[in-house]
Amino acid sequence: MTTHNANLPDIEQLTHLANQFFTALPCDGSLLNAGVSTLSPAVDTNKLTDLAKQAVNPSVETVELNKLSTVSRSGIPINTPEANFYFLDATQQQQAITHLGSAVKSASLALASQSPKDLSSLAGQHVESPIETEELHKLLVAHATVNRSGAPIHSETATAPTFYFLEMQKPHRDLSTLGLAGSHTAFDVHAVRRDFPILRERVNGQQLVWLDNAATTQKPQVVIDRISAFYQHENSNIHRAAHELAARSTDAYEQARKTVADFLHASSPDEIVFVRGSTEAINLVAQSWGRQNISKGDEIVITWLEHHANIVPWKQLCDQTGAVLRVAPVDDDGQVLLDEYSKLLNSRTKLVSFTQVSNALGTITPAQTMIELAHRVGAKVLLDGAQSVSHLHVDVQALQCDWLVFSGHKIFAPTGIGVLYGKAEILEATQPWQGGGNMIADVSFDKIIYQPAPARFEAGTGNIADAVGLGAALEYLQRIGVANVARYEHDLLAYAIESLRSINGLRLIGTATEKTSVLSFVLKGHSTQDVGEALNKAGIAVRSGHHCAQPILRRFGLESTVRPSLAFYNTHEEIDRLVSVVRQVQAGQIGLY
Ligand code: PMP
Repeated sequence: MTTHNANLPDIEQLTHLANQFFTALPCDGSLLNAGVSTLSPAVDTNKLTDLAKQAVNPSVETVELNKLSTVSRSGIPINTPEANFYFLDATQQQQAITHLGSAVKSASLALASQSPKDLSSLAGQHVESPIETEELHKLLVAHATVNRSGAPIHSETATAPTFYFLEMQKPHRDLSTLGLAGSHTAFDVHAVRRDFPILRERVNGQQLVWLDNAATTQKPQVVIDRISAFYQHENSNIHRAAHELAARSTDAYEQARKTVADFLHASSPDEIVFVRGSTEAINLVAQSWGRQNISKGDEIVITWLEHHANIVPWKQLCDQTGAVLRVAPVDDDGQVLLDEYSKLLNSRTKLVSFTQVSNALGTITPAQTMIELAHRVGAKVLLDGAQSVSHLHVDVQALQCDWLVFSGHKIFAPTGIGVLYGKAEILEATQPWQGGGNMIADVSFDKIIYQPAPARFEAGTGNIADAVGLGAALEYLQRIGVANVARYEHDLLAYAIESLRSINGLRLIGTATEKTSVLSFVLKGHSTQDVGEALNKAGIAVRSGHHCAQPILRRFGLESTVRPSLAFYNTHEEIDRLVSVVRQVQAGQIGLY
């Protein structure tokens, strides 16, 4: 079923406010007779009432109400599988959705007809309601067995959310089949857009058009909520503590690691190291495995397409060890010349590191073939997935890469968190790069024993909350379905290429047959900066510059390009707006000149 209806209310905003609303309710239902002052001052009751009025628009489909039901009284999204404490099976989820959906609907109906001052009594009715919260609570606790310390967590008297400690029951099921918030079986761009609050932003008086996705992506509400729930309910340093919050945060963090492993189809969560991002992951491999395995005369092969993050650490390693950096060339469309690449490989090649998708041109490299060829000469392969994982299905076991890196912020997760995947046997055989807390099993002044991987590569306190946010983002993307995303983006890219090509004087840079998400161009007679600024004035965010990929731009005789880059929430209408502004710049109708 499609969830889009142009007349629908702003569900995300309503959900957010409903979230605040339910958070404000005391757990024991005592709000019934309390004054409105009981409500948290954070709750904007006027706004909530207005929104609730919109919500009872008869055109609201059940599924939309179900989306509202992803908010529990405690403010925790209860039907999304982002956190490990509320995993119910599909039937239980459906029951919970139905119950809470009707609760929210009746609350919304009631709210719609009342003034803000009656909110507290309405809230009381909601809490007192014979089914919703009671039933829901029962459902949730019925499936709670033991918490991670092994203690039973059922409590007859508990009013606090005992479902908090539910063990993850089916971590590897196919999330794309669940009818949950953020799930859009037939891909509906308008429905997914509503998951991203920032897309409602206005910039320079215009509706924001976010076409800077290769630099960073926007975050869905489920990710924002998950991070917020972490700080509200779970925040603690992980591991080695006797207290409950350490158990919760450790569970959440390790669950995120499982989610990443599942997403990449790694054979174990132990193959997943949390880092700051792709840059740190590549430096980690260069400074640990690289320093331990590369020596004078060895060769490291990269391609002309690489981001500086996949050039500089290898050049530094070569300078440190006396190894030689070799670079595989590309053709005029920006495609790796496989023959030339093959010629570079020989028994001295110890490492090949290349991108799966070029951030400057959008070229998809023939990764599988390149990895196979490298392995034939005994080289290890690092695949830079920074620009691929949000657009293509990536399976590290099928690819057989030895490492894969990606950054959370380019896949709808927060900044400051990223992933290094490494084959277990390689990680185990590699000595750590950074030393400190968390990564050791035992320390004396004479001897240090390291933890096994991945802990040995995670020295110090990591970015716990954002790792949890990354888990939520990947689950969100899995619910939408990477295949759906790839299909939709493919059509959108084809449309954008065709539209931009129709502009006089516009030269597209990067015209590979296999290409995704990125549209680099220059416009005759206009600097890339001017085009970028004109677009910004029209509320359209693109990047103009060298995109941290100077060698490949210079290969095309350029120092910079304008680079719109797509995500699955972009629309054909947004492409039309982009093209219209560029056309006006080209015609001299707008500009800064
Ligand atoms: N590799 C590629 C292909 C990239 O596009 C980027 C970011 N633009 C990076 C590596 C580095 O990512 P980060 O800055 O998140 O570490």
